[in-house]
Amino acid sequence: MYRVYDDKYREGKIINQIKVVLVGTTHPGNIGAAARAMKTMGVHRLELVKPKIFPSTEATALASGADDILDNVIVHQSLADAVKDCAQVFGTSARIRSITWPIITPEEAGHQIAKHQNSTAQIAIVFGRESSGLTNEELELCNKMICIPSIPAFSSLNIAAAVQIICYEIHKNLHRVKSENNDAGENIPLVTLGELELLYEHLQACMVDIGFFNPEKPRLLMRRLKRLFNRAQLDQNEYNILRGILAAAQKAAKKEKD
Ligand code: SAH
Repeated sequence: MYRVYDDKYREGKIINQIKVVLVGTTHPGNIGAAARAMKTMGVHRLELVKPKIFPSTEATALASGADDILDNVIVHQSLADAVKDCAQVFGTSARIRSITWPIITPEEAGHQIAKHQNSTAQIAIVFGRESSGLTNEELELCNKMICIPSIPAFSSLNIAAAVQIICYEIHKNLHRVKSENNDAGENIPLVTLGELELLYEHLQACMVDIGFFNPEKPRLLMRRLKRLFNRAQLDQNEYNILRGILAAAQKAAKKEKD
């Protein structure tokens, strides 16, 4: 359900509520590369906690056109300060040191963030130092941990690569919610539960008429079909088409009998 978007595409306001926070970054080039990674995915708010060197020509060089993100960077003296306005703080780690935090995949994080579409909550995604990650004190400020699945013997990604993967998942999921609402990009309302019930009744009656379904031996057929239609998230047009097909099938079956 993912489509490449055109110039008219907008991520929506939620993107303004998301910030990437890099804690104690040692190499300024990584800050620039992270900014570039963010920009390709439409994420634009970058905040730094005690970077070793910033601003720097190396950061600008690796940002490679994402200078606007670097120009708007906010620098904090502590992670607590950076996330104090946030309702959701996602930490990131290659190694899970304890089980105190719910651990999620980048994809699950993208999904959870996309679900915030209608809230005004600020969301932070926090990345640790190249050498040692986040301290326990910093981890305690996080609600959830995102771990990018990788092989245990070499699990640690370059920080900008980690930023890229997580921003990609955010972008993918934000876009998916939009396109799932209506795949053709038109504004057709989704079908209501009440209408779906009518569709199921009609479907069952039609399947009886065409000899596909025996109500005496229902098995799991209706349940399976309901699951299929629930997953499909029909819009009104699609619903009308299906009702039309069912009615036509019933008519043909009746003609055959007469
Ligand atoms: N030796 C450090 C590695 C830090 S890598 C440690 O063990 O924590 C620098 C940062 O990149 C990490 O703090 C994290 O923010 C991110 N990162 C690297 N690999 C990751 C992975 N597999 N999953 C999630 N984040 C990762």
